[in-house]
Amino acid sequence: MKALYYKLLEDGDIRCVLCPHNCHIKPGEQGKCLVRKNIGGILQTEVYGNVSSLAVDPIEKKPLYHFYPGKRILSIGSFGCNMTCSFCQNHEISQPSASVINRRKNIISPSQILKEALETESNIGLAFTYNEPIVWYEFMMDMAVKAKESGLSTVMVSNGFINKAPLKELIEYIDAFNIDLKAFNDDFYREYTGSRLKPVLNTIKDIHLAGKHLEITYLIIPGYNDNRDEFRDCVSWLDKNLGSDIVLHLSRYFPNFNFSAPPTPTSTIQDMYNIAKEKLNFVYPGNIHIPGIMDTVCPDCGSIITSRSGYFLSHRNTVDGRCSKCGRLIYKYFRNQ
Ligand code: SF4
Repeated sequence: MKALYYKLLEDGDIRCVLCPHNCHIKPGEQGKCLVRKNIGGILQTEVYGNVSSLAVDPIEKKPLYHFYPGKRILSIGSFGCNMTCSFCQNHEISQPSASVINRRKNIISPSQILKEALETESNIGLAFTYNEPIVWYEFMMDMAVKAKESGLSTVMVSNGFINKAPLKELIEYIDAFNIDLKAFNDDFYREYTGSRLKPVLNTIKDIHLAGKHLEITYLIIPGYNDNRDEFRDCVSWLDKNLGSDIVLHLSRYFPNFNFSAPPTPTSTIQDMYNIAKEKLNFVYPGNIHIPGIMDTVCPDCGSIITSRSGYFLSHRNTVDGRCSKCGRLIYKYFRNQ
């Protein structure tokens, strides 16, 4: 399948302009993401419709805590990524060899997925997740357009490393985003993810300016991105650019792929949670249970809105997404049933 967003150069070479790597790809070769290949001067996506994972998940698993909390969403992913994170928690599908992709080929058409999404009980829509959906752009666009035409909600869980033009085209068809902010340090991005910080920050701002629902995930890796001063700067940037109601997930890291640093200590997450809460209203620990800070609490009157334990939750003081004690808006996207 022919890819979108590329330019033909001299001698059959191609420049892919989907993400800020802007790969120069010679005939027969692939870009950095390993799933976009120059075949005879045409850029081909090698993963169109190739589904590595498909499951109905709690929306909290994305994680999205303020987008139809308590609902379920059909979640799909493929193979490949345009980052090369040494600590990737999903490397089996994000950094696969060509033989793995071919061995696990499971082509599903957009209409089959749409049918499944519409027939799945209590499903709010479709989430593009598991691997990096940017490198699955063509299939995601086709699916997202169909989903919106059918009245389904669409979600993208992404590293945010995408060029402005393809993001602008995509934003129209995606209702909610969770973007990973892997550190607030460009050296970290270059050394451990093979990418850069600035384009990710630009994506975050563009999504916010487009008025789409946005939550941020920060995976805390002890000794690598847990510098408290740097994190304070990160929280100030989020507050200044996105406002104090932005939802921030502080996720616990576990050793994986090429990283063997020990799991994030509970005390580090608690400490960084305290720093984030100095400016932000909605901060949640992820991949860990820390009693007392898991719930959604009304920033104005202190009422517990939603009690949370892992992916299980119960709404306590909310009517139509507002605090039932003081009326403050907590969830813009909310369904009682
Ligand atoms: S999407 Fe892939 S091929 Fe295109 S610029 Fe990014 S890494 Fe390179």
